[in-house]
Order: sequence, then C-alpha cells, then structure tokens
Amino acid sequence: MGRVIAVANQKGGVGKTTTAINLASSFAAAEVNTLLVDCDPQSNASSGLGLVKDPERISTYHLLMGAANAEEALKETALKQLWIIPAHKNLIGANIELVDGERREFRLKDALAPIRDRYQFVVLDCPPALDLLTLNALVAADAVLIPMQAEYFALEGISELLDTVERIRASFNPDLAIEGVVLTMFDDRTNLAQQVTAELKRYFGDKLCATTIPRNIRLAEAPSHGKAALSYDIKSRGAESYMSLAKEIISHQLSVKEMAAAAAARGSQRAVVVNDPVAPETSTELATIEQPPAEASSPVDAEESRTEEPVQLSSTQASVEEIRAEESVSSPVETIQGQQPAEETGPAAVEEIRSEEQGEVPAEEMDKSA
Ligand code: ATP
Ligand code: MG
Repeated sequence: MGRVIAVANQKGGVGKTTTAINLASSFAAAEVNTLLVDCDPQSNASSGLGLVKDPERISTYHLLMGAANAEEALKETALKQLWIIPAHKNLIGANIELVDGERREFRLKDALAPIRDRYQFVVLDCPPALDLLTLNALVAADAVLIPMQAEYFALEGISELLDTVERIRASFNPDLAIEGVVLTMFDDRTNLAQQVTAELKRYFGDKLCATTIPRNIRLAEAPSHGKAALSYDIKSRGAESYMSLAKEIISHQLSVKEMAAAAAARGSQRAVVVNDPVAPETSTELATIEQPPAEASSPVDAEESRTEEPVQLSSTQASVEEIRAEESVSSPVETIQGQQPAEETGPAAVEEIRSEEQGEVPAEEMDKSA
C-alpha cells in the first residue's frame, strides 16, 4: 500500500504546489512509482508539469463527480515513474455541486482506491482553503505535509489547519498523521527565521522536517518551463533540497517501521506518541521511545550541514519496496472501510537500508549561484 501525502496549508502562496511537484518528482527520481493529484482549481501543479489547459481533459473534477474513474484520468509526465491526475478550473464547481452529494468527503479516497496500490507515494496538491476539496484530500490521505514560511505569525496561521486535522480524525480519518512541517523559501541568515524556527521546533518537535527549502530562483523558474526543478536544473539548491526532503520522508517511514517492529518485539501493541501536538493517543505513527537522535538539533543546523548529506535516492528503492510490502499489510488507514487485515512487520528492510545508506555517495557541493 502506497503512502498518500496531502500537501496542505490554507494560507496561499506558501509553497504547496512547488513542494507537491518537486517532492513527487524527487520520489520518482528515486525510482519509486509516484502519482501527483492536482486537487486545486488553480491547476498550478498540472501546468507546472507541462500540461496545457484543456477543459475537455478528464481531471480531478470528473473523479469527484463520479463522471470518470482514476484510470481514465491518469497522465504520463516527462519523468518515467511520475504520473499525474490533472485539474482544471472547473474543479471549483465541485465545491458547490457536491454539497448535498452522497459520501461527499470520501469522493477522492474512493476514486483513488482502485489505483493507489500501484504507487509507493501519492502526493495531493491542495488549494489554499479549508474547503471540500482540501477535506477530500485529507480524508484520502495517510498523512499531511504542511509547507510554511518562517514568519512571525506562522504558528497562529497553522492552528486552524491543525484544528481541521483534529476534526477529520474525529469524523472521517482517525489515522490521519502529520507527515511533517517543512519550511519553505527559507533564509537562515535572518534572526527572525532562526527565532521562528526555534519556536516551531519547540512546538512541533520531530515533526519539523530537518530539511528546509531555500528561496531559490530555479524553483520559481522551473514551472514556466513545465518542468520539475530536477529536470530544469538538477544541481540547483532548490532541486537538491527537495531530493533531501524526499529522502527524509522515505527514511522517516523506515524509522516508523523500526519502532513498530521494536514495539512488537517487546510485546507491546501500543506505541507511545510524544512530541506530536495533534496526534491522537491511539496513533501508532511515531513512537519516540528509543528513537535515535535527530541528525541535527534544528532545521537550521540541518540546512547548514546538508552539503554532507547524501541525496542519491535510488539506493533506497529496494527498501522502499519492502516498506511498501509491509505497509500493504499493516497500514491502518483503511480501517474506515475495513479493508486491510493486519500482519506483523519485521526490521529486515530497516537493516538493509541502513547498510545501503552507509554506502551512499555524498551529494555534490550545492550550486550556490542558483
Ligand atoms: P497557492 O496557495 O496559491 O496554491 P502555493 O502554496 O501552492 O500557492 P506556490 O505556488 O508553490 O505556493 O508558490 C508561490 C510562489 O512562490 C510561486 O511563484 C513559486 O514559484 C514561488 N516559490 C515557491 N517556493 C519557492 C522557493 N523555495 N524559492 C523561490 N520561489 C518559490
Ligand atoms: Mg498551489
């Protein structure tokens, strides 16, 4: 079972689409099958990957309205292992047309169910609103990735989204996890950025991604060429930072599995969650008991040391496959529909990835001029 990650923040212009495009592309570059679903009527993820506007094309709107299935909506991209379900501005109508619709919150989840097993990652790009479209994405997702800028009022803006996540857990998707909070357009040279980062670290703990995304002109230019940053300029800091983020998320999945395996070995069925300000008590998503220390004490430190971080992702592929195999029998998200039986997981894949990672080649020095 693949992992469905909704990239969401109701605040506009924080880097959701840039994150969705480049994270999905980085997963695909790591040679894992990835699907990007454009859930935003602005359709920026679609145009950013080179799809011209076409009102006739089958899109997310048709999926939500039950007028087409996901198979019919799939489009190939320039990257071999990346597919996209595009959007069109007609998607804005779904918000209104679905108001009285049956299972209106589950439309996207139901539509993606027949194809999601084909992908290790499904990335959902959400609109800048807590509307029915974002609700559908959060109900369909295993986890939410929250891009945000290191601004003074950053935490205030995020509380509404976290409240929504709580409500969705209570009503529709009890296992919805926080994949992480990623700082975008980040400039660690300012005192403000460092202060805000420290505060976010206190609040989110390990949920604050160690990888930060710098402000980088290549990330802004790439969509106008219909390309992901790694296709446009693979050596740019922007492309490298998203490859690091993809690697961090893949590694996070490994550590989650390791925790679950350790807990199972201790005979415990219940993982203890700390440092997640919004996790339900029953979540098994993150156990910080015996969690290995973070690679860096803060995202700022991590960014400074990122040149030493390996970014070659393809060596993680085999283990991602193994995680996926494990997840396909252990993911709790389908409990809503009661589909997936649980089986035991093992630490073998974790061991394998660790030995593989030790052999990875360090990243080339970042292109500071980009
Ligand atoms: P919306 O809420 O409208 O959907 P968004 O949250 O999806 O916006 P993006 O469209 O990804 O945000 O980014 C907003 C603008 O900032 C775009 O012009 C994008 O190219 C630019 N941008 C995003 N991230 C970066 C970055 N790291 N460096 C430079 N420019 C960036
Ligand atoms: Mg967007």
